[in-house]
Amino acid sequence: MSSLSLSGHASPSSHLPSGKDPLLAGKVRCMEWHSFDLHHDFVSGDHAPSDFNESFHIVVSDGEILGHVSGGIWRPLDQDEWRWLDVKRVSQHYLGLVGTVPVFANEIDPESDEPQGYEFDNLWAFLGRVDEPVFNLIGKAKQIVDWDNDHRFCGQCGEQTERSSGDRSRRCPACRRMFYPRLSPSIICCIRRGRDILLAKNAQSRGDFYSTIAGFIEPGESIEEAVHREVKEEVGLNVMNLQYISSQPWPFPNSLMLGFHAEYESGDILLQEEEIADARWFDIDALPNRPMGVSIAGRLIDSTIARIREDSSTG
Ligand SMILES: [Zn+2]
Repeated sequence: MSSLSLSGHASPSSHLPSGKDPLLAGKVRCMEWHSFDLHHDFVSGDHAPSDFNESFHIVVSDGEILGHVSGGIWRPLDQDEWRWLDVKRVSQHYLGLVGTVPVFANEIDPESDEPQGYEFDNLWAFLGRVDEPVFNLIGKAKQIVDWDNDHRFCGQCGEQTERSSGDRSRRCPACRRMFYPRLSPSIICCIRRGRDILLAKNAQSRGDFYSTIAGFIEPGESIEEAVHREVKEEVGLNVMNLQYISSQPWPFPNSLMLGFHAEYESGDILLQEEEIADARWFDIDALPNRPMGVSIAGRLIDSTIARIREDSSTG
């Protein structure tokens, strides 16, 4: 699958404590957004409340997300800002409630000029720059807008589809097919052997950047089978003792990463050259340039290092 490398857009603002944005202090509505902890305060939904006085708006155009030029931590537009934004609106999708405030994804016409005081950024630029639940919400907004755009016509009969009233789906009025937002689950796996970790360099990635093995799950395959197959295909190794660790929505464009630890069982490294430029065992004290903790790849590597250190300290 595509490279897991980071864009390098991390900004100093990511070091600010969340909820305290000095550049935006004094603006009541901004403080309201930053006072929420989305991990607890966001509840997903597909039916907007009928009546509300406040709302948040994530604005998507041509795959990019609207943010403020003034710097500081990203936030969505509030109701008044959205109302007065001088752009052509294409579609709106309710995402859920942040506290008691509805939040919407809005698509605007890509031909619209960048509104004054705002600029667009691609999704990579947000990774590591905003808190993870905020990143996931922005990724959700973009994926819903993309899905809606990609299913305006029925793939079966070509008829124009319409939005369903019951749930988040599109329906073909002619052949009655339903189209739901689709995820492509993938596995990602950090393999250890004694004090060593296996890391691979993607054939597409530039520079000296090594990461874990990852790939999409195929139809008819269990998650565990996908781990064994991907590792075997990409680096020719057999692994054992798979342990599921955690997952991460990965909206590039619509994946969900399922993260594993695994131990080396047998085999010699044999590269799948179309995908992998290099793969090696690295001692945990001599690791190469690798993903940081904002991605699940980085977290799997960090937790493997911690386990190796723990094992060596207990003998
Ligand atoms: Zn149809």
